[in-house]
Amino acid sequence: MERLAEAIRRCRKCPLHRARNRAVPGEGPHDAAIFFIGEGPGRAEDREGRPFVGRAGKVLDGLLSGIGLERARVFIGNVVKCRPIDARGGDRRPTEEEVKACSPYLDKQLELIRPRIICTLGDTATRYALKRYGLAPSRIRELHGRALRVGDSILLPMFHPSAALYRARLMASMREDFGRLRALLSDLGIA
Ligand code: SF4
Repeated sequence: MERLAEAIRRCRKCPLHRARNRAVPGEGPHDAAIFFIGEGPGRAEDREGRPFVGRAGKVLDGLLSGIGLERARVFIGNVVKCRPIDARGGDRRPTEEEVKACSPYLDKQLELIRPRIICTLGDTATRYALKRYGLAPSRIRELHGRALRVGDSILLPMFHPSAALYRARLMASMREDFGRLRALLSDLGIA
């Protein structure tokens, strides 16, 4: 895992490396039972080289503590490891080409960690996971909160915490979906 993280920090496989300050390989225990996958780093993550440390990260932290799950027990990564920046310096979604270039790193992280539960946060991560596991494409709106068996793991798609920042209704859905995660953990005997 450490060698992989180093390779990510040095990577120049796609144009996103040009504007990054720091790549964000992801963090968490290498035998984590739960793997959260976001879309890509934002401004704060690019500055610190760590995932979900900005405003969306605070939302994620709150949802984790709401179900009694310590952040230190889960692995948190992204589909792309360098920040996608738009023409005005803001965040944007990664392109198909950027996802294609970067996702082999995430594939490898999933292979090494072999999590029991994979929680995708938002459309980009959910699209990646559905494709990786040979499932039909679907929107996060329809899939969120539904546990899907994918090989030896369970995929649980959720909305992205940044979407919930501005929409109270989505925050309520996210709380419900985290409740489902809590129930799943109990069913699987993961405290
Ligand atoms: S986004 Fe991924 S593929 Fe592109 S430069 Fe960064 S680590 Fe490499």
